[in-house]
Amino acid sequence: MRRPQILKSFLFAVVLTAAASAAWAAAGPSDGFSPARKIESKYFSIQLAAGVDELNLVSSLDLGPDSKVLAGQSLSSPNNLGNLLDALFMWACGVLDMQLYSYRGTIKVSRDENALADIYQRLYGTERRSEKGFYIYELNTLYVTEQDFKKEILGHEMGHAIISNFFVVPAPEKVQEVLAGYIEYEMRKKPRP
Ligand SMILES: [Zn+2]
Repeated sequence: MRRPQILKSFLFAVVLTAAASAAWAAAGPSDGFSPARKIESKYFSIQLAAGVDELNLVSSLDLGPDSKVLAGQSLSSPNNLGNLLDALFMWACGVLDMQLYSYRGTIKVSRDENALADIYQRLYGTERRSEKGFYIYELNTLYVTEQDFKKEILGHEMGHAIISNFFVVPAPEKVQEVLAGYIEYEMRKKPRP
């Protein structure tokens, strides 16, 4: 009699946890971000806050010509931000040797660190200052500022997205930081293999 009871409670708890996480994503606190422009790419829905300039983002990514060729840049659409971010994502997956072919996530670009801190405050009710960017697993969303829209910073946060979506059971936080830090290091040291 006792055992099935325990099993039942356990299953109920698992279902509750999954439901709570889904509910948080669906009807949780709003991040307060209102996009002025949306760009769809293969892997991302990219949302830019008002005043964020797409060409500025492309130049601050600072990807070399090889990446642009790999991103499938054509003469008719040079510097396509979506293609470049897809190429960056594939690069990050390659560094970790974790391929996520059917991944879809969101990238939201804020004006500055204050706007980013405001988003974090709305979501978690606590301060998180001097962050260049962060990835929120429950929303599968990567937040970054216009001024820190650099390949190594995006690569680091994409690393968190890749790790979170690759493993069924989430990897410990320290392991995630080491792996994300490794992508950052690889992207910082060379233009592209
Ligand atoms: Zn990190």
